[in-house]
Amino acid sequence: MAQTSGASHYWPPQYDPSYVPHPDAEHWDFRLETMPPAERDGVILDKLRGQVRYAWERSGFYREFWRDAGVDPANIGSLEEFARLPVLTKEHVRQEQEDYPPYGRFLCVPPEQIYRVHGTSGTTGRPTVFGISRCDWERIGEAHARILWAAGVRPHDTVMVAAVFSLYVGSWGALVGAERLGATCFPFGAGVPGQTERAVEWAQMVQPTALYATPSYALYLAETAREMGVDPRSDFAFRLMFFSGEPGASVPATRQAIADAYGCQVVDQGSMAEMTPWMSNGGCRHLARGMHLWQDIVYTELVDADRHAPVPLGGEGVPVYTHLERESQPMIRYWSGDIARWEMVDCPCGRTYPTLPWGIYGRADDMLIIRGQNVFPSRIEDVLRARDDFGGEFRLVVEQERGYLDRLTVQTEVSATVWASAGEAGPAGLEGLRDEVAAALRRALGIGVSVELRTEGEFERTQFKARRVIDLR
Ligand SMILES: [Zn+2]
Repeated sequence: MAQTSGASHYWPPQYDPSYVPHPDAEHWDFRLETMPPAERDGVILDKLRGQVRYAWERSGFYREFWRDAGVDPANIGSLEEFARLPVLTKEHVRQEQEDYPPYGRFLCVPPEQIYRVHGTSGTTGRPTVFGISRCDWERIGEAHARILWAAGVRPHDTVMVAAVFSLYVGSWGALVGAERLGATCFPFGAGVPGQTERAVEWAQMVQPTALYATPSYALYLAETAREMGVDPRSDFAFRLMFFSGEPGASVPATRQAIADAYGCQVVDQGSMAEMTPWMSNGGCRHLARGMHLWQDIVYTELVDADRHAPVPLGGEGVPVYTHLERESQPMIRYWSGDIARWEMVDCPCGRTYPTLPWGIYGRADDMLIIRGQNVFPSRIEDVLRARDDFGGEFRLVVEQERGYLDRLTVQTEVSATVWASAGEAGPAGLEGLRDEVAAALRRALGIGVSVELRTEGEFERTQFKARRVIDLR
C-alpha cells in the first residue's frame, strides 16, 4: 500500500493529495500510527527540528522569545532539549498581535500567501488571529482525513457539519478533513433562528451517516427532533458522531446519552483552534472514551501547572502543543490551560499513541475552586446526565458567602414528567428528589452544594459551546 510521507527529512512534509486507503483498512498510515513509541520519538524530533529551525530563521517573535532559552533553536538535539524552550501563552500571542497587527511577528510567509484567516472570538479578551497558508490548509485537510479515518469515516459516508461556520475554525476543520477523505460533505451550519428544526428536516431527507457538532448541540437536536415527532434513532441514519468544543464526548453519561439518542458511535476530538489541525487529539472508533494524541501531527507534552515540569504517563497536567508542519503561523510550546490525564492505553486499533482516557475534562480557568476543592463542571454534568429524571440542562452559580466562603448552587432541570408529578405543590413537592441529587453531587465532588430544581426547557439550549457557569464572586 502506498505510504504517505511522514518521517521525511524534508520539511514541511508533502502529501500525495490523491492517496486514500482501501475502505477496509484500519489505518490511513499504518507505519506511522503503529510504530513503537521510541521510534516515533525519532520521527517527531526530525519534524520538530525542521519546524523550530524554520521559525527561528523567519519569525521575529520567536527569535526574541528564544534568545535566552539556553538551547540553540537551530539545532535541537533531543526532545528534552526542546522542552527547555519557553512556554508560549495566549497572553504572549495577544500582546504580540497588538504590537504588530494583525498576525504579530509569528508569520513566516509573506502576508499575501495567507489563504485563510481564522481566529478566536475574543469573548474573554482581545481576539487572536491565525493566518493559514494554502499548503498549511492542505496539510490540515490531510491530517484531519487521517484522524477521521480512525474515527470510522469512509468515502461512502455523508458528513453533516451542524456547527457555526464563522471565524471559529471547528466547522471548517471538520469540513476540510471530510472533503480530503472523499466523503460527501453536507455543511449545514447552525446558529440561525429556526435552523435546528430545519436540521431535523434535512437530516431526515438527506440521511447523513456522520455528524460533526458540539455534544450539547447533538443532544438539543435529538430533543428538537422528538418534539417534532421525529425519532432520532429510526428516522435519521447517523452511525457515528465526532465532537469538539466541549468535554462532553468523554463525559461518560453525556457520551451515553448521545449514543442512546441516535444509536450511534461517539468520538471525542479537539485540542485548540490555535493548534489546527485541532483533531490531533482524536479518538478512534474502538476507544470507549477519550482521545489518542497523534504525536507525529502535533507534538503534545503534559506539564505541571506551576513549574511546567514534564508529567510522566499516568499523571495529570496541562497539555502544551507544538505544530510540526506549519509554515504560516506556527505555535511552538503553546500553553492550553486545559487539564487532562495521559496514559498508554492498549487500544484494539493498534495505535501506539499516548491516550487522554478522560479527554480534556477541564480548563484551568473553568475549574471552580469551592472552599479549597477543585470542582470541574464536567464532573457535575456526568452526575446529572446519569439520572433518568434529568431535564437536559443545568447551570452552576458561584457566590461568595459571608465574605470568604464560596457557595455553589447547581440549578438543574428535571424532566417534564417528574415536574408534573409534583402537581400544585411545584418544586416544594420535589424536596426528596432535590436532596437525592444533592447527595449524589456531594459523593462525586467531596463538598456539599445547594441544588435548585427547574422545569425542563427553562434554560436556553445552545448551538455552540454551552456557558453553564455563572460566577457572581
Ligand atoms: Zn484506538
